[in-house]
Amino acid sequence: MSTASDDGRSHAPIPLARPAVGAREEELVLETLRSGQLSLGPRLGAFEGAFAARLGTEHTSAVSSGTAALHLSLRAAGVAAGDEVITTPLSFVASANAIVYEGARPVFCDIDRRTLNLDPQAAAAAVGPRTRGLLPVHIFGCPADLPALEEIAAARDLFVVEDACEALGAEHADGTPVGARGNLATFGFYPNKQLTTGEGGIVVCPDAATKALIDSERNQGRAPNMDWLDHDRLGYNYRLSELACALGLAQLERLDDLLAARRGLAAAYAERLGAADRPAALDGLELPCPDSGGDRRSPFAYVVQVPPASDRDAVIGALRARGIDSKPYLPAIHLMSFYRERFGHRDGELPVCEDVSRRSLALPFFPGLTDEQLERVCAALAEALAETPRAAATASTAP
Ligand SMILES: *Cc1c(COP(=O)(O)O)cnc(C)c1O
Repeated sequence: MSTASDDGRSHAPIPLARPAVGAREEELVLETLRSGQLSLGPRLGAFEGAFAARLGTEHTSAVSSGTAALHLSLRAAGVAAGDEVITTPLSFVASANAIVYEGARPVFCDIDRRTLNLDPQAAAAAVGPRTRGLLPVHIFGCPADLPALEEIAAARDLFVVEDACEALGAEHADGTPVGARGNLATFGFYPNKQLTTGEGGIVVCPDAATKALIDSERNQGRAPNMDWLDHDRLGYNYRLSELACALGLAQLERLDDLLAARRGLAAAYAERLGAADRPAALDGLELPCPDSGGDRRSPFAYVVQVPPASDRDAVIGALRARGIDSKPYLPAIHLMSFYRERFGHRDGELPVCEDVSRRSLALPFFPGLTDEQLERVCAALAEALAETPRAAATASTAP
């Protein structure tokens, strides 16, 4: 399918995301297919080891998804029914769902307007007698304020589990890679992530004992020696196949290039959409925050916020009419129907998150997006904002 633009040229549609897989991925996956060992073979340990080395950590446990990684991390942290876990409402729903899997309650706190990550002050204020831990998310690849959150956790004997599923390659101000601070941390390898295994995830474990526990729970609770009969604990099938590990090994080999491509695209978007002489239609458009304080983002998506009075969903429609895929990103988790019904959430509870989530728009972003395509997205966004109606000033936008 293609769409005709005003100048009569015909353009192929631009997707939101697309995995970057090439000859090396094909080679390693094919080699694995032909090896005759499709699960629990040598590539599992090889991938775990290579990933750990990349992060500068020691113990990792690869699993079937980022969600599985979050679930096993929370179990390893000791979450039990009736506990509360403080987390962010601006995330992919998996980070909250994993808390609910164990019968615990996600306590959503508002976000920092600049970084869009869990606001440590709000988190500190939400600690109560049932609070067991904190689950911050490094949203869109921007490092969450872990030093502040760890201080809150240490003072009250809470665990920290980091959802770093969108943040492979990001760094904290002290140079530590995100996910390598010694907390339980999770990464996800869905096809739109910085590194993909098709489906997959990994837990960064603080020590060998935690890895042993998670290795067992991902594999039906079996002993590490693969004893078939002694299942001495409840387990799951959260194994990652050898094919997925082979794909991950090939992706790790060129991770620097993949990350650099994303950084380049984010800079190109910021330059065009933030230019001093940008079209007037872009006035009021907010871009992802630049790095500050030494933290370094690893861009996962390019998410802008439309001006407060703009109709984001109409902008998505106007972009679609121009062959450009975009998404409302992300919806506030506490306002999803399951969370409203199960936990009694209402509109207006978390105003910063709700405002951001109402205005957020993810633009096409993936290694391989060409300069020409990026130009087209920016031009189309200006057109879309110009042609969609803006509401008259409302209470929230009036001075
Ligand atoms: C992708 C992602 C996950 C994990 O997703 P899976 O699809 O289960 O791999 C978890 N949290 C966040 C914030 C994510 O973006």
